Amino acid sequence: TTQIRLASRPVGEPTDDDFAFVTDDLPELAEGQVLLRTIYLSLDPYMRGRMSDAKSYAAPVPLGGVMVGQTVCEVIESRSDRRAVGDLVLAYTGWQTHAVADAQHTRRLDPDAAPVSTALGVLGMPGFTAYAGLLEIGRPQPGETVVVAAATGPVGSAVGQIAKIKGARAVGIAGGPEKVRALTEEFGFDVALDHRSPTFRDDLAAATPDGIDVYFENVGGPVADAVNRRLNLYARVPVCGLVANYNATSAPEGPDRLPGYMSRILTQSLTVRGFIQSEFEPTLFKPFLADMGEWVRDGRVRYREDIVEGLENTPEAFRGLLVGRNFGKLLIQVAPL
Ligand code: NDP
Repeated sequence: TTQIRLASRPVGEPTDDDFAFVTDDLPELAEGQVLLRTIYLSLDPYMRGRMSDAKSYAAPVPLGGVMVGQTVCEVIESRSDRRAVGDLVLAYTGWQTHAVADAQHTRRLDPDAAPVSTALGVLGMPGFTAYAGLLEIGRPQPGETVVVAAATGPVGSAVGQIAKIKGARAVGIAGGPEKVRALTEEFGFDVALDHRSPTFRDDLAAATPDGIDVYFENVGGPVADAVNRRLNLYARVPVCGLVANYNATSAPEGPDRLPGYMSRILTQSLTVRGFIQSEFEPTLFKPFLADMGEWVRDGRVRYREDIVEGLENTPEAFRGLLVGRNFGKLLIQVAPL
């Protein structure tokens, strides 16, 4: 197998030196295990957190360890009754071309039900994050205004489309004209805004004349600062991610905005609630698969994938994800399907 291991803990944006490419033999299969060939590797913003040893909800990747990540793989050898050679499975085998895994830690995928890559995106963890965070915490009501940034990504695009299904008005924020166009033309947002535009604050005000009832927080930074000032009485803020800060090495410039934010939480009776999607898995994953499966089949939820060929391009693609060079769910095609 060829693996990408964590060579050092990055300071700021990860560099090529933070990763080491290593070719190694895999152990013999034990009873209950399968040998997997990686087809798609999912790249997700949370991986930046795993590269750091700061205290978090999950343990960091150890130095010298293989970078973690969800994968879609083909079973090429099996010592388990659960999986046969040729099965396509969802696994958590990380940044490598081949891996040995316990069959019970894989989920079999049906390629006739949906393209298998969707198990890493719209019908997988990111889609589920949108579904659980929006419906459990955001609770959009018909006619309300829902705002989300990173809106062409797998989480944000699902948030906007589910908000529409629930009868709310969806305002999407993305970086650059091409992404902004996709928000209304591809994903059906009511309004789309470019956070890089010098008039962003005014554009947001014009797009939300009745204020904002749900802000699905994906990014933090200046976008959040502009949105937070427009939150209505009893608005809900599911705090899902803060990707604008993931490479940060110091506090942002300018005055301390926390007192102003706390004051709005108080006077507007805001609900600001962080979550990690796995919290909702036991109760909501099955209904998610049923609902989202139906919405994707009947075209009410659309998705976009950004597929980069070759494991060797993983570090560069990952750097791009943290600053918006991806356009849709970022996947590495490690080997042909
Ligand atoms: P995306 O594919 O949307 O990629 C991240 C996007 O963030 C970039 O494409 C870029 O889009 C945007 N972005 C980067 N920097 C900034 C910035 N400074 N200001 C505004 N936007 C920025 O990622 P996902 O859909 O996979 O993830 C979205 C968020 O959800 C992340 O914060 C992630 O950590 C979080 N998440 C949380 C989970 C949980 O359980 N809590 C689970 C899964 C994801 P653009 O070019 O449009 O600016």
